[in-house]
Amino acid sequence: MRSRLLSRAHCYLFCLWALLASPVRPQHAGHNRRKDHGGGGGGGGGGEGAVDRPKLLLLSFDGFRWDYVDRVPTPNFRALKREGVKVKVVENAYITKTFPNHYSLVTGLYAETHGIVANEMFDPALNRSFSMETDSVYDPRWWEEAVPLWVTNQRAGGRSGAAMWPGSDVKIHGVYPTRYLPYNASVPFAARVAQLVRWFTAPDPEAVDFGVLYWEEPDESGHNLGPESSLMDVVIVDIDEKLGFLCNELKKAGLYERLNLIVTSDHGMTQLSADKIIELDQYVSRELYTWVDKSPVVALLPKDGRLEEVYSALLGVNPHLSVYKKEDIPEHLHYSHNARIMPLLLEAQEGWTIVQNRSGPMMLGNHGYSNTLPSMHPVFLARGPAFRQDYVKETMRSVDLYPLMCHILGLRPLPNNGSLARVQDLLSAGPSPSPPGGYGYAPAVGSVLGALMVLGFLLVFVRQVTLKQLRPLAVRSREMSQPLLQEDLHL
Ligand SMILES: [Zn+2]
Repeated sequence: MRSRLLSRAHCYLFCLWALLASPVRPQHAGHNRRKDHGGGGGGGGGGEGAVDRPKLLLLSFDGFRWDYVDRVPTPNFRALKREGVKVKVVENAYITKTFPNHYSLVTGLYAETHGIVANEMFDPALNRSFSMETDSVYDPRWWEEAVPLWVTNQRAGGRSGAAMWPGSDVKIHGVYPTRYLPYNASVPFAARVAQLVRWFTAPDPEAVDFGVLYWEEPDESGHNLGPESSLMDVVIVDIDEKLGFLCNELKKAGLYERLNLIVTSDHGMTQLSADKIIELDQYVSRELYTWVDKSPVVALLPKDGRLEEVYSALLGVNPHLSVYKKEDIPEHLHYSHNARIMPLLLEAQEGWTIVQNRSGPMMLGNHGYSNTLPSMHPVFLARGPAFRQDYVKETMRSVDLYPLMCHILGLRPLPNNGSLARVQDLLSAGPSPSPPGGYGYAPAVGSVLGALMVLGFLLVFVRQVTLKQLRPLAVRSREMSQPLLQEDLHL
């Protein structure tokens, strides 16, 4: 009789412990989520956990500068702002190139920490080169200094869908996105959207809850035409129509009101000029260095023992050229602590181009310059149940997006350079979309009943059990809680 009473005591105390522990820390959502899927082949799908998991789609229009939305009518961007939030100034990551910034968006890390320090890199330890133009992209070793959000989402039991996002067709830490399209620039925007909508609307155990979507424009046109060209107006109108198309497809699929949509980019674009060229061949022999990454932030690997020679040959040759030894790169750029950052870095002033000589073709627009320049900043808008409406924020950092997305998805963020506190005002004041297995009314009612039962039990307990019997009880309840705590730590 007494032992039955004691085991019931364990049960009630455990309920009380769970009741007190669970709602306090939103990080527990990931733990709950894993339970939703824990059944695996055990059937019994759905239940409470499947009701309405938060959904999030992150869309990048490559090279969409923050102010493009204001130079021509963009009704779909305007609707997004009205229905959601807009951030005027987003300081992205240095260098303002495509691969580093797309990886920063999904890791919350600066390039020196996530390791994708440029579109073209050399790793001295691997003795290998990386180029976004070659199959080196598919070598996971380049990507594994960080863990992208789709991997974290899946480790916590979520499902991710990726349409062409840089790195999303690479097996990073042994994991591909749950669903993904191998990179193929010729797949039209509409087909990418259709695939994502199918993934989001699949029957529940199959449905993705986090998606990433990438589109190559207006970057390509920005390079070819120059951002100041009036021909860019047509390109921006086309992007606005693509956004409208996406929203329509989401509406048709019944996703529009349930899904959180973030529209941003990796960087902006600035106009180049044929008069603003710096030719390295005029100052230093090519025999003395290897050219690793190109304008406007050029990475040079001097030949053995030639660093000082190359450095002094280039220092001060042009007032529009900054020459840094790796250890002298300004700290605020967060761009020095990685072996893939070369011993010499040359940074052109905005609008200037660094070449070896003028033999190659000239672009009319480029990016990659300092992330303090407004022209390098991307657009940022978001809407959905997690976001406020018709709210404009002055400034954020692109690394802040990662903890924000983790919060929306109910995931515990990995260590990162961002801050949820800096962007929390973007979120709607109401309860954030209930995390998987979340805290709706049913758990609340259950909690109140549980608490009443515990109180009732304690009254009986105090009457029937002596103080001596309480001691082993405390010990055993600690044992019971241990496996749960351990599981929590594994997240
Ligand atoms: Zn880009």
